[in-house]
Amino acid sequence: MRRVTAGPAVDGRAVPAAVLAMPGPQAARLLDPAGPAGRLATAEAWQPALAVVLGWAGRRWPADLHGAFVHDDPAVEWIADDGDRRGDAAPVLVAHTTAGLAAEHLERPAAALPAVVAAVRSALGIDVDPEWTAVHRWTFARPASPRDEPYGLVDGTGLCGDGWHAPAKVEGAWSSGAALGHALAR
Ligand SMILES: Cc1cc2nc3c(=O)[nH]c(=O)nc-3n(C[C@H](O)[C@H](O)[C@H](O)COP(=O)(O)OP(=O)(O)OC[C@H]3O[C@@H](n4cnc5c(N)ncnc54)[C@H](O)[C@@H]3O)c2cc1C
Repeated sequence: MRRVTAGPAVDGRAVPAAVLAMPGPQAARLLDPAGPAGRLATAEAWQPALAVVLGWAGRRWPADLHGAFVHDDPAVEWIADDGDRRGDAAPVLVAHTTAGLAAEHLERPAAALPAVVAAVRSALGIDVDPEWTAVHRWTFARPASPRDEPYGLVDGTGLCGDGWHAPAKVEGAWSSGAALGHALAR
């Protein structure tokens, strides 16, 4: 999909309805910014995050760690035990960076790795560097201020996703899309 125009029409083809289930800034790229749906999408502000995966040869943190918020750290705000999540006890952590660190490294996410490794080691008292790391960039990771409405729908063009329903989680994204689907079916 490249363009959603009034009508609605998708890439020039008339359709009964068009749904953009994605963060507002991504939807805005496909819409006429001066049209009502484009204005709705453009009004959404998002924050970035980097998700960093860190693997060690063995576990070097408390056995009962599931996940932890890191308060007042400039680099990392959440650490999750991925081995615990997967249930295989793999010695792997996933760290989510602060929006500030991610914003500084959107062009070259790997350059943020030293700061993330240092923050994770310090937060959990780990005395050696991880054996391997991987970084994933999420330019639109969290809605800055999720909307109260469950979805947007103007002239047959619908907007939904986790920007529309607090809290920003899969459940919110799903319920937003489901509510929009019901409205279109009616
Ligand atoms: C690092 C990270 C970790 C997270 N962890 C959790 C967690 O543990 N638990 C939890 O509940 N939530 C988690 N979330 C939140 C969860 O990922 C989101 O709430 C959910 O994915 C939002 O779903 P969505 O459908 O609104 O948007 P998205 O998942 O972003 O989906 C938008 C889709 O639109 C597609 N798209 C974009 N442009 C076009 C186009 N032109 N044509 C066609 N398709 C297009 C994209 O490719 C994408 O597939 C996490 C988010 C991040 C960033």
